[in-house]
Amino acid sequence: MSTPPTKPSSSSTTPSTKTPSAVTKAVSVTSKAPPNNCFRGIVVVEVGPEKQAFSIHKDLLCFYSDYFRGAFDSSFKEAAEGKLSLPTEDPAIFDIFNGFIYTRQLRDATDVKGPNLSFTTLVALWIFGDKYIVPALQNKAIDAFKERSDKLRSIPWQLHLRTIYDNTLHGSPLRRIITDMMAYEITVSEKPRDKIMEVYPLEALVDLAFTLSDKSKEDVGHFRLPAAKKAKCYYHVHNEGESCP
Ligand SMILES: [Zn+2]
Repeated sequence: MSTPPTKPSSSSTTPSTKTPSAVTKAVSVTSKAPPNNCFRGIVVVEVGPEKQAFSIHKDLLCFYSDYFRGAFDSSFKEAAEGKLSLPTEDPAIFDIFNGFIYTRQLRDATDVKGPNLSFTTLVALWIFGDKYIVPALQNKAIDAFKERSDKLRSIPWQLHLRTIYDNTLHGSPLRRIITDMMAYEITVSEKPRDKIMEVYPLEALVDLAFTLSDKSKEDVGHFRLPAAKKAKCYYHVHNEGESCP
């Protein structure tokens, strides 16, 4: 089997301390509906070790993802055969992605939606979107992640911080949001020291230290993100000059 294109180096996770700007053709806002010509040819994506098959409109996949555009609009074997295999991906996550490109909503097989999805699922969706260059999915997932955290008044660092750091690069929005939440929304020193030492990779501790050192006097004691970090697109992945309506 030929190898599908790898992610370009100018991806959404280019190291940066600001919101990284992706250079993608894939749409990054869910307000933009796919045009009618996205609903013509069908391709098949086989997912997971059991090769669960998803039949999907090819141009719809390409509208949302630069990875699938590269794989199916090319001279690769996948394009000629109209078939691609993702044996290491989780079919449940792919199923939500598949539903998302048709409905622009996040919903799992049991009809759990948006911020009601688990932190595990929302983190996995963001990481999937990062890997396959689907900025609109990343933005939808990170909004739901923040909304869930606000609703439950819970920051899922104990279970998910390591997953986030193991699967993203320096400066990625998912790293920034969990670091900002830890720095601004709680008092870290009230958390169990042993647990912090167990969970936090060195890189995450450095990010947390830098973020805490940037905290202004006005931000202390409020337990909320500062206004600049609450801007709608602050943790989004957009091309330069793009933003959500
Ligand atoms: Zn945005």
